Amino acid sequence: MPEGGFGATITRQSEDFPGWYTDVVLKAELADYSPVRGCMIIRPYGYAIWESMRDELDRHIKATGHKNAYFPLFVPRSLLQKEAEHVAGFDPQVAWVTRAGGKELDEPLAIRPTSEALIAEGVKDWIQSYRDLPLLLNLWNNVVRWELRTRLFLRTAEFLWQEAHTFHATEAEAAAEVATGLECYRRVAEEWLAIPVIAGRKTPAETFPGAVYTVAIEAMMRDTKALQAGTSHMLGQNFARAAGIEFLDRDNARQAPYGTSWGFSTRMVGATIMAHGDEHGLVLPPRVAPVQVVVVPIFRTEEERVRVAGAVDGILRAVSDSPGQAVRLEVDWRDVSPGFKFNHWELRGVPFRMEIGPRDVAAEQAMLVKRVDRSKEALPLAALAGELAGRLDGYQAELFRRALDFREANTWRVDTYAEFRATLEDHGGFILAPWCGNGACERQISEETGATIRVIPTDAPAEPGACLIDGRPSDRRALFARAY
Ligand SMILES: [Zn+2]
Repeated sequence: MPEGGFGATITRQSEDFPGWYTDVVLKAELADYSPVRGCMIIRPYGYAIWESMRDELDRHIKATGHKNAYFPLFVPRSLLQKEAEHVAGFDPQVAWVTRAGGKELDEPLAIRPTSEALIAEGVKDWIQSYRDLPLLLNLWNNVVRWELRTRLFLRTAEFLWQEAHTFHATEAEAAAEVATGLECYRRVAEEWLAIPVIAGRKTPAETFPGAVYTVAIEAMMRDTKALQAGTSHMLGQNFARAAGIEFLDRDNARQAPYGTSWGFSTRMVGATIMAHGDEHGLVLPPRVAPVQVVVVPIFRTEEERVRVAGAVDGILRAVSDSPGQAVRLEVDWRDVSPGFKFNHWELRGVPFRMEIGPRDVAAEQAMLVKRVDRSKEALPLAALAGELAGRLDGYQAELFRRALDFREANTWRVDTYAEFRATLEDHGGFILAPWCGNGACERQISEETGATIRVIPTDAPAEPGACLIDGRPSDRRALFARAY
């Protein structure tokens, strides 16, 4: 029996959340460390989760009119330097190639930390007239940002992502595009990953380097900390001007187009782990789960095994014959104890386990066990195939509701700095509080408490108040939290 007993044990989530997270990532075989510090190997089970969210996001991106393309990995230094704020923001994280082909390069090449500069240069000749706009590109690639403190999926020196880059004739069109990008992310987070999010605008201090403004979606993890789950940037004419992109508008005047960019990364695998996981490991929403139902046959004698196998074959046939209900189902015939298998699949977050033994076969039923609360339900074999899709949909909705209830139970509204500090210390979580818009107040709060303004929520109602720090007027509440 591999690893003996009931298999891998993991650190308790309630006692050591970061230790729990690392255990889940490693022991559920999602990812592993690589020879290069800060880089990760994504293992097949982790990659299957990424592929599922990637494919779903790709469908939304294409449905909103964007086309996939590819741009190179290397960015010449001179290009990266064209947009001054951009290069200043990224410089410490950029990895450079200075030697290749056996000699020093005349110009160092950056390994892309993001592709704004390269895209602006690359599309210069494609945009001549307003008829060439909008230009709606999307790239699936990897980027490198040299991080000093790394954590698998959450912060790695190299990560996989999608970066959309668009150009528009007017500012209004670009602003609508910024919202479109964020809405694609909201839908994947909420509908696919069952993670409720709060959308809003970042403060100037948290805005993407070189952008006019940044919007983001923020999610609460099960330790009540925040995780940024996708960002979308209004670039204005900054990058287009720096690259010298001009087009003839409807009035035959030369203009620089307005740009946007937006990104969603393998960080969201980490978000999915931390938004739903529990003491037993991963808890995966069915839509993103590589295996949705695992069948565990239970038997002692060869005669029992044969009887159970007959029933399992019947289940497999019925499930594959059910039109429009493609359930990802796997049967675990490994020669290890049922207890070991239960533990194995619970750690991996499989939504339902189906136990079937000789007594179940005799009663023409199977026992369905729900991962999140281990509740059991006997389902008649005859009806089983037809019932699974509905059970999976129900479970998906239940996990979303559970995450939303958790967020609501851990969200606080406070009006004074003393209350703010006490709430953060006693409960953590999300705190909605008045802020005057001054960067100095924001900085003081962050330095003294470790909580940052995640966003000014889009749906925050107008609500006159007094800033936590200097009492100056605030017209709506900002969302504060400690964050990943
Ligand atoms: Zn203030």
